[in-house]
Amino acid sequence: MAIELNKERVAQASALIEKAKKIVILTHVAPDGDAMGSALALYHYCKGDGLQVTVIVPNAFPAFFNWMPGADKILIYETQAAECDKVIAEADLFLCTDFNEPKRINPAGDKMLANPAPKIMIDHHLNPTDFADVTFSFTEACSASEIVFRLLSALGVQPTFDIATCLYTGIMTDTGNFSYNSDCPELFEIVAQLLRTGIDKNAIYNAVFNQYSTDRVRLTGFALYRKMRIYPDYHLALITLSADELDQYHYKTGDCEGLVNMPLQIADVHYSVFMREERPKPGTTRPRIRISFRSQGDRPVNVWAHEIFHGGGHMNASGGDLLGSLNQAVKLFEESYPKYISKD
Ligand code: 5GP
Ligand code: MN
Repeated sequence: MAIELNKERVAQASALIEKAKKIVILTHVAPDGDAMGSALALYHYCKGDGLQVTVIVPNAFPAFFNWMPGADKILIYETQAAECDKVIAEADLFLCTDFNEPKRINPAGDKMLANPAPKIMIDHHLNPTDFADVTFSFTEACSASEIVFRLLSALGVQPTFDIATCLYTGIMTDTGNFSYNSDCPELFEIVAQLLRTGIDKNAIYNAVFNQYSTDRVRLTGFALYRKMRIYPDYHLALITLSADELDQYHYKTGDCEGLVNMPLQIADVHYSVFMREERPKPGTTRPRIRISFRSQGDRPVNVWAHEIFHGGGHMNASGGDLLGSLNQAVKLFEESYPKYISKD
């Protein structure tokens, strides 16, 4: 289905952005390239003399996005809550990108809802909630960055070098460097327009994918060599990493990004799950297990993530979590996979 932005909504969005003086741009927890790219592209589009435009992310983004234009101006809710609360309370417009449920960015989500200022949502995930005044939700879009590009085009805006850099990063990362969700010819027409601004796509690739620490690469080796289990009957792989193991490799945010995809390189593996233990938050006792699900082809993992691990996501890429031990998470995983995945 072709992605067509409704003209009336584009006009509404345009009027809201035109009028706003204090814009807050919000994106999802554990920001990825698309969250960063779509939010920062909107930032570069909106900023201007006499305007206050702020990007807020719920928690820290990986260091391999530090180079992105505008990344140094981002506020991080987890460590700058008071400042973020103030900016959110004063905002006269919210742009929400790459998420569709305010709950997913809490506590920032509740703070945003407490401010009656208008909200525009730009997203490509399933089951959008209806919290925004203007919604651009296209599950068939490869990325929120693609929708931002289409919105800017509909507004008659030519992407600048910085905007193109951000949008290319989002499209590149959310398609696994054009290896999935990217067979629509129009996407390559969008990429062509981005390239014409003079961006260096190879440099962007290198900045995101070839700047890892030695610890990160060794952690990947350890995880694949020592921590990967295969369930051959179900073409399923599971990797678990405990908080202690992560400490041994001086784990930093983003160090496990992409790890869940690696077992899918095995010919007979169609499903891959990765569990990462986070130590209990101060004042609590239970660790949190963060779980990523990936699959290939017509093999949904989002229902499994939703029904068993309070999460959700796309058909082939979902996430969820569990408050409890890694052993509990593995037990639940082993009890549930025969119900949610197919043997072929
Ligand atoms: P990841 O494994 O990279 O953390 O997440 C994969 C996909 O699942 C992302 O598109 C993300 O938006 C979605 N996702 C991850 N965690 C959750 C969750 O807790 N709830 C929902 N609804 N989606 C999630
Ligand atoms: Mn995305």
